[in-house]
Amino acid sequence: MRAVSVRTLIAAACVALAAGAYAQAPVTVGGVTAQPGTAAYGEFQVPARGTDAGTVIPFSIVNGAKPGPFLALVAGTHGAEYPPILALQRLRASIDPKELSGTILMVHVANMPAYLGRAIYYTPGDHKNLNRVFPGRADGTISERIADVITREVIDRAQYLVDLHCGDANESLRPYLYWTINASPALVESVRQLALAFGMDHIILDKARPTDPAASLYLENTAITRGKPAMTIESGAMGQSDEESIQRIERGVAGVLKHLKMRAAGPDPVQHAVFLGRNQVITSQHTGIFYPLVERGHTVADGALIGRVTDFQGRTIEEVRAPFGGEILYVVGTPPTTKGEPLAFIAALATADEIPKR
Ligand SMILES: [Zn+2]
Repeated sequence: MRAVSVRTLIAAACVALAAGAYAQAPVTVGGVTAQPGTAAYGEFQVPARGTDAGTVIPFSIVNGAKPGPFLALVAGTHGAEYPPILALQRLRASIDPKELSGTILMVHVANMPAYLGRAIYYTPGDHKNLNRVFPGRADGTISERIADVITREVIDRAQYLVDLHCGDANESLRPYLYWTINASPALVESVRQLALAFGMDHIILDKARPTDPAASLYLENTAITRGKPAMTIESGAMGQSDEESIQRIERGVAGVLKHLKMRAAGPDPVQHAVFLGRNQVITSQHTGIFYPLVERGHTVADGALIGRVTDFQGRTIEEVRAPFGGEILYVVGTPPTTKGEPLAFIAALATADEIPKR
C-alpha cells in the first residue's frame, strides 16, 4: 500500500515537472503580460526630465504557445529608417503566436522623437545619435534615457537581438549586415549562424566595436558586450518605404526564427555570402553641397573620384576619393553636407585570413 502510494506520488511529480518544463509561461515586459499563444501591446515610458517631456517606446510581445528562445527585434533606432518599422508592423500581424516557440519582443519605434520629428542621425532635443550613446543613462538627455530603457527592458531581457536599420533618409544604401567578430569565439560563431540565417549576402566583418559593456555605444553592441548574439542589419534607403526592402527584412526574420527553432517553416541560410573586411566611412572635410559621382553597389578603384563638395558659389572645395579599392555600400544622395559627416561607406572583400574560422 505504501509502495503504491509513493509510486503514485512520483508519477504525479513527474507529470507536474514535465508540464512545468514544457509549457510556455506568461511573459511580462514593461508592465504588460502576454499569455502563452497570444500577443500583447505596450509602451515603455521614458519619463520627463528638466525641460524635455520624455517620450514613449511602443512594443509588442508575441509570446509563443511553446517554450523557446527570447528574441528581440528593434526598429526605428534612427527615426527616418522606414522599411524596418514597416516590416515589424507586418511581422506583428503575420506571426501566429500559437505556431511559435519562445517569445519575440518587437520594439516598433525605438526613437519616437526622431520618427515624429522626421530627423536623420540625431534625436531632436539633444542632437545626439541614439546609436552612439548606449548603454544610456537614467539621468541623461533624451537619447541617453531612451538607450537606458532599451538596455534594461529589452537587451537585458533578450537572449538574441537584431537591430534593424537601413540607409538613413539621406543615404543611398545597398543591403548588408554587420557581423561583430571582436568577441568570444562562441559568441562570434553564434552571430555567424544568425547572420547567415538572415539571408543577406553582403556581410561586413566588424572588428572595431567597443568591448566595454559600460561604453558599448551601439544598441546591438550592448547585447554583444553582455554575451548575447546580436547583429545590425541594413535594408532600405533614402527615406523610402519600398516593397523590396521591407520583404527582405520579413524574409530575414523568418530565417532567424527557423534557425532558432522558434518556427518550423522558413527560408534556408544564405549559401554564398560575400564577406567584407576593410571598411571605412568617408567623411566630408567641408560644409557645403555634395555631388556624388558613384552609386550604391558600384565597385571603385583605389583613388577613384566618388564625389565633389562645392561651396555655395559653386566652387569645388573638395574632391572625395576612394581610400582603397572596394564596393560603395552607401553614398549620400542629397546635397547637404557638414564637415565631419558621412559622404560614403566603402568596403573591400575580406581575405580568407580575416574570416573567423568555425
Ligand atoms: Zn540607422
